Parts: sequence; structure tokens; C-alpha cells
Amino acid sequence: MKEAILYESSGAGLVKCGVCPRECIIFPLKKNFLQQKNGLEAEIKKDNLGFCGTRINLNGKLFTLNYGRITGLEVEPIEKKLIYHFLPGTMTLSLGSFGCNFRCPNCYNWEISQTSSLVQNKPETIFQLNNSFPEISPTEIVTQALENRCASISYTYNEPTVSIEFNLATMKLARKAKLKNIWITNGFISTKSLDLVIPYLDAVNLDIKSFSEKFYSSHSKGNLTPVLKSLSKLAKNKVHLEIATLVMPELNEEKEILCLVEFLKKELSSHVPLHLVDFSAPISWQMENWKEPSKTEIIKLWKKIISAGLEFVYADIDNRTKNTYCPHCGEVNIERLDYEIERKDDESFCFNCDRKLFIKE
Ligand code: SF4
Ligand SMILES: [Zn+2]
Repeated sequence: MKEAILYESSGAGLVKCGVCPRECIIFPLKKNFLQQKNGLEAEIKKDNLGFCGTRINLNGKLFTLNYGRITGLEVEPIEKKLIYHFLPGTMTLSLGSFGCNFRCPNCYNWEISQTSSLVQNKPETIFQLNNSFPEISPTEIVTQALENRCASISYTYNEPTVSIEFNLATMKLARKAKLKNIWITNGFISTKSLDLVIPYLDAVNLDIKSFSEKFYSSHSKGNLTPVLKSLSKLAKNKVHLEIATLVMPELNEEKEILCLVEFLKKELSSHVPLHLVDFSAPISWQMENWKEPSKTEIIKLWKKIISAGLEFVYADIDNRTKNTYCPHCGEVNIERLDYEIERKDDESFCFNCDRKLFIKE
């Protein structure tokens, strides 16, 4: 276990974690915790772990439980991360650990993200869980990315914020090895954490759950305001940004998504790529019986958003909605057939009318 970063003492052995806006107060374990062998696990209570289940307070010091504990490591096309305008056609090494600072019932990766909920009644099992995942070092991650000719490393699968210590160590090595760093995140991260990460961060896909505070508080157990603050800070620091949003009937559909579009146009730009993701009930954590959006509804929404003035809108439902069209003349400049891409653009300018397509190489 590594000592965590960005925490401070709150007196009486309590600590406050500053990694994300939740600022959990975490209670200490008893002093003799580390010496105990038998019965050690019975000492652990839920209050000794943060909300995300990745941090533990041992005698007033905060430690990460998921440092280097990998739940997924895979070489993938960068497009699979819903990053279409950054190094298109390249491979990325995707890695993830466990834990999350949200509780979205629609989560697809709940087996690794919701570990703290899974151990809710038996928090002591967090150690068994932790030890069940293989351990890897930042050097090994970078070596694997280079050996597999990846252009980048993607911090994904679970929320990268709650693995900030390991991710930061890996990002620093990756930068030295001329690899790009990409976060797939919910954006619920503290300003202090962002300040540490931004110097090594090249691109982000930020998932806006819904453009509604009510949705965030009741559905994800979070807040929208800090997420929008992260978005502005990333944009200000010129990190390449793409946005994803899940289309869910009654919860996040046309009304909320068109509000998001207006926000993006006003606060960022009309050329920030937006990815519409269709909700899938069977793979969700707790929404197996929720209605799914139809393909027709998504295509209608896709067209509406383009008419509303957002220039690059994507939906991963058929090849037509995955292409990059020139916002001026309408010609297809990047054709995506599943994860095969065909480039027709002229170094990020439209081959037909020379319009800028905002693609970073
Ligand atoms: S990172 Fe985890 S422990 Fe820290 S404030 Fe966020 S949810 Fe709480
Ligand atoms: Zn054109």
C-alpha cells in the first residue's frame, strides 16, 4: 500500500481526503491494527474507507488500496475510448483499477467501479478484493505500451481520479517515453488534483451524466457544478476535450442534452466533439428494467444537435453517425467502419473546401 496524496489531518486521528470534491472524512483504524494478524479484518468499518473504497486511514495516515492493482489492461483502437479527434487511427493501452466516487445505477463497469458498495456490509473484504487483482508497476505499463506500439495510455474502466497516485506516476513516465496520456473520466475531481494531473494530461473524454444538478444528486450521488468547473479548467489549459453523454429515456434525453449543447457552445466552442452513447439495460448495474432508447430516437437527436450548431456529433450506433463530416460542405472526411478508419481529410482540413476539422495529431 502507498501513502495517499492530498489529504490532511482533521484531528483525533481523522483525515480529510482532498482528491475529489466529496472531501471524505475518514476514521482511523485502531493503533494496533498493523500488528494484528487474526481478527484484524474484524476491526475495519466502512468509515475507515473513503466513499470510493480506495483509501484507508491507518493510525491517522491515509493509504491507497488500489495502487498498481489492475482490473483491466488492453491494447485498443483509440476510437474505442470515444476519442475521435485526437491521434485518430492509433492504438492506446487502456488500463483500469477499482473504485469510483459516483454510484450511477446505470454503470456498465460496476463489478470494478462499485467495489465499495459490494463490500458495504463486510468492509473487511476490501483487502481480499484488493489482493485478488494483479499488481503492476508504472514502468511495466509504459513498457507494454511501447512494446505494443501504442501512441498513448488511456486511464479508463473505473474512475481514474480515485487511482490518482498510480496514474500520476505512470503519466510522468509515459510523458518521458513520448506517449500521450488520456483520461476517460466523470470529471468529479478536485482543483488540487487537476493541478497535479494537467501538466501530464493530453486528452480527456469527460462524461456528462446529464445537464441537471438533480440528476447528479439523486442518480449519481454527486454534483454537476464541480464537473463543469473541471471542464472549464481543462479547456483553459488546452487539454484536448471530447464529451460523452448517455441517452436514457426520462432521465437524460432531448431536453437535457440540448441544454448541454448550449452550454458547450457558449463555454467551450462549437467544435468540441460530443458522443451520444445509447443506454443498455442488461449490462447496467441496477437498471435492468429501464427502457432503452431506440436507434431512430438517437438518430433524430443526432440530427437535432447538428442543427443546433454543434459541429462534430457522434453516436456509436451505425457507421453513418460515426463519420466525421465537414461542418461547411458536408463531405465525409473520416470514415469509420467499426474501428477501421479511412482518412480523406487533408491534414485536419476538409479535402473539399479546406475547412478546419480540429483534429490533433
Ligand atoms: S477520492 Fe474517494 S476518499 Fe477521496 S474524497 Fe473522493 S470519494 Fe472520498
Ligand atoms: Zn468541406
